[in-house]
Amino acid sequence: MRADANTRTVDLSAIRDNVRAMRRQVPAQTLLLAVVKADAYGHGAAQVSRAALQAGAAWLAVARAEEGAQLRDAGINAPILVLGALTEAEAPVIAENRLTATVCAPEHVRALQQAASRAGAPVSCHLKLDTGMGRIGVRTPAEARAVLDAAADCGSAVRLTGAYTHFADADGDDLSFTREQLRRFRALTEPLPQGLLLHCANSAAIHRLMPEAAFGMVRMGISLYGCPPVDPGCTLRPAMTWTAPVTQVKTIAPGDTVSYGRTFTADAPTRVATVACGYGDGYHRAASGRAMAMVHGRRVSVIGRICMDQLMLDVTEVPDVRAGDAATLLGRDGDACITADELAGWAGTISYEILLAATERVHRVWIDP
Ligand SMILES: *Cc1c(COP(=O)(O)O)cnc(C)c1O
Repeated sequence: MRADANTRTVDLSAIRDNVRAMRRQVPAQTLLLAVVKADAYGHGAAQVSRAALQAGAAWLAVARAEEGAQLRDAGINAPILVLGALTEAEAPVIAENRLTATVCAPEHVRALQQAASRAGAPVSCHLKLDTGMGRIGVRTPAEARAVLDAAADCGSAVRLTGAYTHFADADGDDLSFTREQLRRFRALTEPLPQGLLLHCANSAAIHRLMPEAAFGMVRMGISLYGCPPVDPGCTLRPAMTWTAPVTQVKTIAPGDTVSYGRTFTADAPTRVATVACGYGDGYHRAASGRAMAMVHGRRVSVIGRICMDQLMLDVTEVPDVRAGDAATLLGRDGDACITADELAGWAGTISYEILLAATERVHRVWIDP
């Protein structure tokens, strides 16, 4: 395989297959929401949204109103939930772009009312319940009631159409706190009006807590991209492959060192392939001395410190590596593969951050085989 540039390739058929695989894990009447915040975890928000909707997702979610407006500008018409608590500046963006806001205080509702009257159209919102994440949301029935009352005061300008919560530890070893959050969710939603769209499950809960955490909708995040945080119990395919070109290949002698700080010393004649990728591309420097990559379908070690623009591989065991060949940093190369979880382990972070790490100068292409 050859590579011209440092590139992330996003396979949209993997996104669609992953939606369909999760569809089968969730009760038939439960809607699927595709979480496409942060540019779809680095995969391209508009492209992933279209693929997910084609494969059966009914809703999309973003973190900020501006992300939702960008999807509307891209011609996407599906309902879009903004997951972050509403800020004042976001209210008009929500109204003008027919987004669904997240509210957890009467002031949020009043800001939406103002924006709705300016836009001349009603605004929808979902109530966020904090059942144990400790981030955003109302925590008591009285606080929930205050938000409901504020919405009722707005007449038809603000429509409260759903309520949801978020799990703090659905991917942890012990699900007892998640089950406690489910109990609190049931208790807090029980007095709410009938007919609200209720949802709580993230990827981990989709794989581990169906059907009890299904309710009206589930929110597919990291698993949509093929990087499930727990054993998914179904086949999911990573959608992203990250490749960069080998720029030089040379043989160094025993005692020679590689890269800054001279942390790698060859103990035998060693073939070294230099690759045009470094922490300036978002490849974590913290993975120095631990990471692996793939060349010609074989796993090889990243040696010495990762530089800003380059890294070095030990390709002694791989015949015929030449400048212009592709090094694969993430994804699949023939029979070999490196998952985001694996790279995250080397870098001391989580798969989510790996998927999002690539910087502007890494090209991105979408394939749809
Ligand atoms: C990011 C996010 C999700 C998706 O979580 P995953 O672990 O990626 O599935 C779901 N709900 C909320 C509120 C989120 O912020």
